[in-house]
Amino acid sequence: MAVLEVSNLTKVYGEGEAKVVALNNVSFSVEKGEFVAIVGASGSGKSTLMNQIGGIDNPTSGSVKIEGKEITSMDEDELAIFRRRNVGMIYQFYNLIPTLTTEENIMLPWLLDGRKENRDKLNEIVNALGLNTRAKHLPGEMSGGQQQRVSIGRALINNPAFVLADEPTGNLDSKTGKEIMDLLKYSNQMFNQTVLIITHDDKIALQTDRIITMRDGNIINDEVIKK
Ligand code: ADP
Ligand code: MG
Repeated sequence: MAVLEVSNLTKVYGEGEAKVVALNNVSFSVEKGEFVAIVGASGSGKSTLMNQIGGIDNPTSGSVKIEGKEITSMDEDELAIFRRRNVGMIYQFYNLIPTLTTEENIMLPWLLDGRKENRDKLNEIVNALGLNTRAKHLPGEMSGGQQQRVSIGRALINNPAFVLADEPTGNLDSKTGKEIMDLLKYSNQMFNQTVLIITHDDKIALQTDRIITMRDGNIINDEVIKK
């Protein structure tokens, strides 16, 4: 079964003179274990697509199924819970809670769900991300690369259907960016974690297995580059 199935997805902003078709009838699907890049120039609709498949915004029309569940018909509360449990989001500027430690930020999806913490699982992730010596630090006490590793931990903690990363290396120098890409690759290869990366950087895209190219709200190319 596809972990993500997008069918005829359209998003229109504004109306009249101000109308923008940010996504124009987009369809594609992603199977478990795929490592996919979504590329395209600024304004091509990448972030709009991310917001629809991440359940952050509602499309104008069309369907988004995550592990077979239609998310576009869920109400806001339902969607917030579904998203927290099934989609791991990673952002360019990390979006960590500044008053929470590394461990607390990573466990945030559990805290929000009122779930008991699973120390073994937490330690496994903290260790895999090389954050053991930073477990009690606040985001402001860490480098950009370390903060992004914390956000990867938060994204992975619930074994999501897929990880969705919007320009995850966009705010990092190239060496640190490579470390972040290596961690995403590692999670893909070691845990068969499905990963979607949104990027405008061809060098990043070429490290994945499949590149979906967008232009003016359309998919103009979709190609497997590694197998
Ligand atoms: P990308 O992430 O590829 O740079 P976006 O998805 O942000 O592209 O934007 C796609 C198009 O939709 C652009 O023309 C942009 O100006 C427009 N757009 C994005 N968000 C909004 C919004 N909230 N209101 C109106 N237009 C928007
Ligand atoms: Mg964008």
